[in-house]
Amino acid sequence: MSDYGINTKCVQGGYTPGNGEPRQIPIIQSTTFKYDTSEDMGKLFDLEASGYFYTRLQNPTNDMVAGKIRDMEGGTAAMLTSSGQAANFYAIFNIANCGDHVVACSTIYGGTYNLFHVTMGKMGVQFTFVAPDCSDEELEAAFRPNTKAVFGETIANPALTVLDIERFAKAAHAHGVPLIVDNTFATPVNCRPFEWGCDIVTHSTTKYMDGHGAAVGGCIVDSGRFNWLAHPDKFPGLCTPDDSYHGVTYAEKFGLAGAFITKATAQLMRDFGSIQSPQNAFLLNLGLESLHVRMPRHCENALAAAKYLKGHEKIRFVTYPGLEGDKYYGLAQKYMPNGTCGVVSFGFQGGRQAAETFMKNLRLAAIETHVADARTCCLHPASATHRQMNNRELEAAGITPDLVRLSCGIEDAADLIADIGQALEQV
Ligand SMILES: *Cc1c(COP(=O)(O)O)cnc(C)c1O
Repeated sequence: MSDYGINTKCVQGGYTPGNGEPRQIPIIQSTTFKYDTSEDMGKLFDLEASGYFYTRLQNPTNDMVAGKIRDMEGGTAAMLTSSGQAANFYAIFNIANCGDHVVACSTIYGGTYNLFHVTMGKMGVQFTFVAPDCSDEELEAAFRPNTKAVFGETIANPALTVLDIERFAKAAHAHGVPLIVDNTFATPVNCRPFEWGCDIVTHSTTKYMDGHGAAVGGCIVDSGRFNWLAHPDKFPGLCTPDDSYHGVTYAEKFGLAGAFITKATAQLMRDFGSIQSPQNAFLLNLGLESLHVRMPRHCENALAAAKYLKGHEKIRFVTYPGLEGDKYYGLAQKYMPNGTCGVVSFGFQGGRQAAETFMKNLRLAAIETHVADARTCCLHPASATHRQMNNRELEAAGITPDLVRLSCGIEDAADLIADIGQALEQV
């Protein structure tokens, strides 16, 4: 599939049926797999042969869908996880453990911030958060001798800052560590971070990839380009024998192309078990088959909404990286010339109260803790997803008390704008 364009990969990647086989990917709804001899199974446990034995480690349906996302991103290996949270946790914990340190962008998704700052902090992994537009000196100063990775989001949810992928990749590589990019909002249809020097991509497939609000899921994709063996002291987990897995050295046995994902599967999925159910993987694949058709419409509707809001007297500010004049418009044009995402955020002249009145009066747009659905939805982050943050943290995350996040669906733009207009009249 690697020679095909992104549209073909969306539709046909990951699964090529043989003669007389099902046209749609089969849901292999089985916890376990049968073998003729114990020796056959032993080879699988030793990672000497490839094959399935227990769905907590690997399942054929999941692997087909992961293979499609791998092809879409242009990577060498991929795995599905039960959620985006699990994907980001595994991506970091696969290389950064107790006593290690990670540099992360301050505007990342609230759930990821909490995972990193609070929960992984308790596990002994420390994070330094830097603004996406920090100076070179600030970025440089964030690194420590025990730094193991740099993390950011292509387009941050919901701050809508755009990561300068090339710049962050360069800084990471200068310190001998990989850049991990959460590409949830842009999707590989609009941006493929590997083309700009990123080493590992993560996704909450719950968002545009599923696209129908049907299944929570995540994915990790490896570019296969980061040379772990050039920094064996930094990445002992990949470059020295794993005693918990028969003494295998992942980077040697599976090469750069397979080491990261094999280790994440053999250790983290084995021990934490955040597998995506094959049923959800099937639903995710249905979403992926139309991702390339839906993304342009999401972007078109969001741009129309952003332009309308920008000119409205009751609106204090509009943030949309696809809107000319936006602080991140230049970076968006560079990394996502065909469109950014369907999410627009804006604030009100009347402050938090106006935001709440506006939300109450929407008819088409539903209030949901969700984005990137085919149906338009909206949220007031300060009272929902970012509720646990204090004012200083909110500010660092790019969120004000009057900010509303509108996730434009794929309905008629005219209907969305009429809905926004009538709700604004009530403010
Ligand atoms: C939603 C989201 C996540 C978390 O994903 P879940 O599937 O909800 O666990 C992580 N990163 C980004 C950018 C998101 O939007």
